[in-house]
Amino acid sequence: MSQFAGENCPDGTSVPSPHHTNQVIYVPPTHSFKSLDNLTKHGQRSSVVHSLIQSCGLESSCILEPLRIATVSEALLAHSRHYLSVLRASSLYHYPGVANYTPYSDLDIIDFRDDEERKLHLEDAGLIDDCPTFNGVWELAMLTVGGAVVASQQLIARRANVACWFDGGRHHARFDMAHGFCYLNDVVVACKILLSEPGIRRVLYIDIDVHHGDGVEESFLYNPDVTTVSFHLAQKGFYPGTGHTITPRETPPNYSVFRVPLRRGIGDDAFISIFRNMMNLVMNHHRPDVLVLQCGCDGVYGDPLGDFNLSGKAYTSCVSYLLDYNIPLLILGGGGYDTANAARVWADVLQTCIRHVSIRKGNQAVSMSINRDVPLHDDFFDLYGPDFTRDIPTGSIPDENTSESLQHIVDEVKTVLNVIPQ
Ligand SMILES: [Zn+2]
Repeated sequence: MSQFAGENCPDGTSVPSPHHTNQVIYVPPTHSFKSLDNLTKHGQRSSVVHSLIQSCGLESSCILEPLRIATVSEALLAHSRHYLSVLRASSLYHYPGVANYTPYSDLDIIDFRDDEERKLHLEDAGLIDDCPTFNGVWELAMLTVGGAVVASQQLIARRANVACWFDGGRHHARFDMAHGFCYLNDVVVACKILLSEPGIRRVLYIDIDVHHGDGVEESFLYNPDVTTVSFHLAQKGFYPGTGHTITPRETPPNYSVFRVPLRRGIGDDAFISIFRNMMNLVMNHHRPDVLVLQCGCDGVYGDPLGDFNLSGKAYTSCVSYLLDYNIPLLILGGGGYDTANAARVWADVLQTCIRHVSIRKGNQAVSMSINRDVPLHDDFFDLYGPDFTRDIPTGSIPDENTSESLQHIVDEVKTVLNVIPQ
């Protein structure tokens, strides 16, 4: 067991105590360059989330780690040099002069000779449709990676047990192309940075976004040091159209990739139950040294892209369960297309982390207000109407999951895990 292992596991086992500080790192999405609100498909989400975290007094209970732009060498941990070169060149083509934050030296010079050649390059790199190029896309994408890097480095430096970067979690981006609103895969970079620490031998990646975490899974398909578990809606025609089987059938078995393919309409209790069952099984067998959670909240009831019935309780319960292992935990954002609900969920997730470490230190969680009203002074107060509370009602989509279908998933994973040497 490495020195990063935790203690007091929820399953009752006990392992050596870590030495790192009981604190929560929060990386605010603020940078002198440009607001992360400019990333497509998220509206003002970055600012709205940060504003609620501030107005609820949560920021003052965290260690704040300044955001920085990623270096090219950090982005190369997840992407090809050619793709990064095209992404950067695509931004410069439209708006020369804005992209001087990272040196060219590690990138190829891409010279689009004409519009036709540019179009071919962009199509090849996935920089079309849901991932269009625009002014500053390079810098903004590199900021999303930078946040995950600084959060990971703080865990490695043991300044905290938990680090949160809610503008991260871009789990669909591929080695050589953009995908599903994701330009750069900060999750893959973070996992590789964490694995570069000699005391970290195994990373467990957990993905609770309503969409299958395909890009991360693909990156680590043949890497036994990273186990991936994705909980997602698996329904014909639902993006990205993968993750329908519990383990990948198309590759030789490696037993470090697990999927929990769910049907429409799952609610809090069933989601929490299968999450705990799965995590208990996987944690016992893989004994990770660090956890990375993609906490996409597009499974919240009413999300324009999701089809689940979840409320904030599902997310905070899952986070609480992971926190109880007392293993270093990196929490990233992800999907969440109802802006106010994304802010509600992630503020609650951060509050859960703060409360957890506060209790571990033996302190009262005095700064944690039980008042669930959105503070009047929040810059985006009007978004939270008509109730202006931080609560999200449970949804009423017919639940197509059954106790049998959920038990079948757990049983199949048990069968798989029984063949793995521990
Ligand atoms: Zn999603």
